[in-house]
Amino acid sequence: MHPLLHLSETQRAVISTAREFCAAEVTPFAPQWDRDAHFEPTLVQKLGELGFLGMMIPEAYDGLGFDTVTYLLALEEISAADASVGVLMSVHNSLPTQMILKYGSEGQKHAFLGPMARGETLGAFALSEPDAGSDASSLRAQAVRDGDDWVLNGTKAWISAGGHAGVILAMARTDTPDARKGGKGIGAFIVTPDLPGFKVGKKENKMGLRASETVQLVFDNLRVPGDRLLGDPSLGFAYAMQSLEAGRLGIAAQAIGIARAAYEHASAYAAERQQFGKAIGEFQGIQFKLADMATRITAARSLLHTTAAAKDRGEPITEYAAMCKLFAAETAMWVTTNAIQVFGGYGYTTDYPVEKLFRDAKVTEIYEGTSEIQRIVIGRAGLKGR
Ligand SMILES: Cc1cc2nc3c(=O)[nH]c(=O)nc-3n(C[C@H](O)[C@H](O)[C@H](O)COP(=O)(O)OP(=O)(O)OC[C@H]3O[C@@H](n4cnc5c(N)ncnc54)[C@H](O)[C@@H]3O)c2cc1C
Repeated sequence: MHPLLHLSETQRAVISTAREFCAAEVTPFAPQWDRDAHFEPTLVQKLGELGFLGMMIPEAYDGLGFDTVTYLLALEEISAADASVGVLMSVHNSLPTQMILKYGSEGQKHAFLGPMARGETLGAFALSEPDAGSDASSLRAQAVRDGDDWVLNGTKAWISAGGHAGVILAMARTDTPDARKGGKGIGAFIVTPDLPGFKVGKKENKMGLRASETVQLVFDNLRVPGDRLLGDPSLGFAYAMQSLEAGRLGIAAQAIGIARAAYEHASAYAAERQQFGKAIGEFQGIQFKLADMATRITAARSLLHTTAAAKDRGEPITEYAAMCKLFAAETAMWVTTNAIQVFGGYGYTTDYPVEKLFRDAKVTEIYEGTSEIQRIVIGRAGLKGR
């Protein structure tokens, strides 16, 4: 189990539990879910029963109260089995639960964190819009105060698990059209699907991550009670950006899980497939590919766990979280591309798992900040230090 990492007994037990869970509940079904673009709703309860949906929620709210390092170890395992289950777990644990935990009132924590930790309700994060992706602070969804309530109008795009989530952290403008304040004029709201004016819109038909539902959410005069506003009405964007740092560590773990699965399939195939009278793994050209895969995966994991440990010590990690996501995502893309090469023509078919891993890997270079945006974060941090 990850020889370079010094794992505690608890961390080893978490990894074993995740592996057993995946062997029984995920791996046998993932290819069919992928073919059918099927989101399996029973996974939420099953993950919740094992504590995987409350990994960093304190025990006082029925979570496991683990640190980031332990959470990421579990997330790598789940993602190696199916990246769609990985993103469900990553978004839920890194974004809505953490936002409520960090910025919510005691009442909000008591109302929402317990059910989320137990897997009774799933969390989603709604920042992006059709015309606001990388430039998220240009979002247009508008929140207007009406008595004690807020009334929200707008369309959120690309929302993972948006049609199945029971708690959605939605960002909307609280400034007014005549006095726009950019990222300082946005609030974060705890939206539940029972509120009047909540609609699930278009479902995306994706190349990968097909078992993860991705939908638009339409807020049509959505009436949100005043006690569902998270913290300060002008700081929602800052809360979202801060939480995305942890989110990026989660996506890095997901990417490492995808890459590791591809590497394991490729090395097993290289040991078996015979050409020119010997296993292709005996050819240096193939061995070098496997060596580069193993090296990049180990480097990505080492960077990730060093950064996660720094986060758990309370140190600032902004540029390092960006490096983790950038490097792990590009590793996943490179490893899955080369895994298909090791499989030759068979790798290009749906009979073998590497083409799915290749399709799943691509999104890690796109969501929670594209690779270009990660480079901007890292580049700016470097210039600031001069
Ligand atoms: C499967 C999936 C699930 C998602 N889940 C969620 C979710 O749960 N919640 C949520 O809020 N969002 C979610 N997203 C949205 C995701 O975060 C955005 O797709 C992402 O931020 C990029 O935005 P965009 O797609 O609008 O691309 P754009 O911002 O339009 O970017 C297009 C291209 O331009 C590049 N670019 C943009 N600006 C610059 C710049 N300044 N310099 C250099 N290059 C630049 C980008 O890197 C990219 O290559 C999801 C997306 C996908 C695909």
